[in-house]
Amino acid sequence: MSRNNNNKRKRRAIVEILFEHGPCTREEVAAHLSNRRGVRHVPSPNSISALMSKNPQTIIVGKQKVESTNGEKSFHMLFDVDREVIKEISDLIHTRPISIMTPKEKKLAVQCKSCGCTRIMPDQATKCLTCQRKS
Ligand SMILES: [Zn+2]
Repeated sequence: MSRNNNNKRKRRAIVEILFEHGPCTREEVAAHLSNRRGVRHVPSPNSISALMSKNPQTIIVGKQKVESTNGEKSFHMLFDVDREVIKEISDLIHTRPISIMTPKEKKLAVQCKSCGCTRIMPDQATKCLTCQRKS
């Protein structure tokens, strides 16, 4: 598998992890990712947050206070899927950006008449799921 495809697979897995587990720090996402079948090289927490910030399916929902062993306190961002739009596991495919679609999904994707994003439409709709739920 090419590195690019492998990266896409990880980006899809990250969104599924957030959907299943709810708000997570990037370190927690890394831990969940390492438990996942078929993921060999877990990206660093830095690359994980970069991957999440590029995906409109994931948003920052808050901060968590973390105390290290030497007593230093810091705040870690909490990421989650955008629950205003993503309510069921089947919504993931309808909100997935073209950059992480599989070749099969790309063939099914069309441009949303409202926002212009390329998405797989629910039930042949002309508006993507995000536009439907955010309006
Ligand atoms: Zn749209």
